[in-house]
Amino acid sequence: MQVQKTIKFKVGELGKRKQGRLDFVLNNGLSATKEFLRLALENKTTSNIKLHRLGYFEIVKKYNLPACIVHQARNKAREVYKSWKTNKFRLREEIKLPKLKSLRVRFDNVIFQLIETDNKKYPYFVSFLCERGRSGKQDNRIYVPIIANSEWQKEYIFGLISKKYKKGSADLVKKGEDYFVHIVIGKEIYIPQLNSSFNPIGIDCGINNLAVVNVSGKPKFFSGGEVLWKKQNYGRIKSILQNKKATKKLRQICKKEKNFVDNINHQISSWVIREAKKVINPVIVLEDLKYIRETTKVRKKQRYAHNSWAFKQLQNTIRYKAYWEEIPVIFIDSRYTSQICPKCLSVNKRQKHNYKCSYCGYQANSDFIASINIQKRFLEAISFPENSTHKSAERDDLLMFNNSPKICELNLRVSPPKPKAEAEDYNSVKVLGIQNTNIL
Ligand SMILES: [Zn+2]
Repeated sequence: MQVQKTIKFKVGELGKRKQGRLDFVLNNGLSATKEFLRLALENKTTSNIKLHRLGYFEIVKKYNLPACIVHQARNKAREVYKSWKTNKFRLREEIKLPKLKSLRVRFDNVIFQLIETDNKKYPYFVSFLCERGRSGKQDNRIYVPIIANSEWQKEYIFGLISKKYKKGSADLVKKGEDYFVHIVIGKEIYIPQLNSSFNPIGIDCGINNLAVVNVSGKPKFFSGGEVLWKKQNYGRIKSILQNKKATKKLRQICKKEKNFVDNINHQISSWVIREAKKVINPVIVLEDLKYIRETTKVRKKQRYAHNSWAFKQLQNTIRYKAYWEEIPVIFIDSRYTSQICPKCLSVNKRQKHNYKCSYCGYQANSDFIASINIQKRFLEAISFPENSTHKSAERDDLLMFNNSPKICELNLRVSPPKPKAEAEDYNSVKVLGIQNTNIL
């Protein structure tokens, strides 16, 4: 299967002339998109063919752009118009057609090229078409240096040049006075078959600890304290803004909140993958979110944060990054993982964050206990496959995987082991406050 990634590069120093040419393609690209959008609105059309007929030749001539950029402009205008037109709240809330502002032009992988040079300061250049050639001549190409200082950026460039990675499209973007190139790269990956020689890395997701990762018996805690506080704050601001119908401010806050969550997820997942790569035959073991509702205890004031915390997104980020490194990922049934003693398998109540086994006296943080048990469930699944159900999972939530018709992922589900304690304990577990909460 193939996975894709977008890598961002800053463009190096440019002379006035080159800057002018880039500005030309960015500004004219934007104007062309605006023009197509106006045509779509006037003619009330979402058809690409009709838009093409209405404005293509005129716009190519007027803005002196290569055909590929005009095509992109037309497609974008159509998308913008279509999503506005189909917005249900458009009429009721008087939502206007969005004003196009961003300076961004896309080049497909045929037009855009990556070149290695002898230039000492900038060894790598990208090139793309930027103006239409004079009658009968070829379109004009521009060569732009990119800055690739970090090791990982270099790794991707080497991979593209040596054809280890597949070249996708590239976007030229201007932000403030700076130019950037966003390159999409693809990789063909192979996920190995699991067996008992694999070393599981168990990850418990929660609120007090966003994630507890168990790598070779050592726990790593990602505390959720600050996140909980911030999320509650965002929740308060959002409800005030919603009441005031301040949509613009609300959108800003939502964006801020999203960036905050993305950043935290990125930090956790990067750490996990870095550590996993140090392990021989690693496999990442996550909780099946189907069960997380039953297993997570939520206090009332935490509910907002809990309901909106993106466990699913964190899991997806971990899985996507793991697959890029060809590390297998499985999902297990996580019921009772924070209540079973890993030493003697008896069921005990957790006291807030502490866990103490009343049979053997084993004591630890309850989220850590969960991560140990999650890890153990993998070994059970491998040793007793008859208890588990294999499912080749084609999950539609795997948006980051483009062009993958089949995701042959081992989705092992293991039923929890029968605890030694009596059925009574299960009832008391309910009394303890396991609630059905909608978290996602
Ligand atoms: Zn015990």
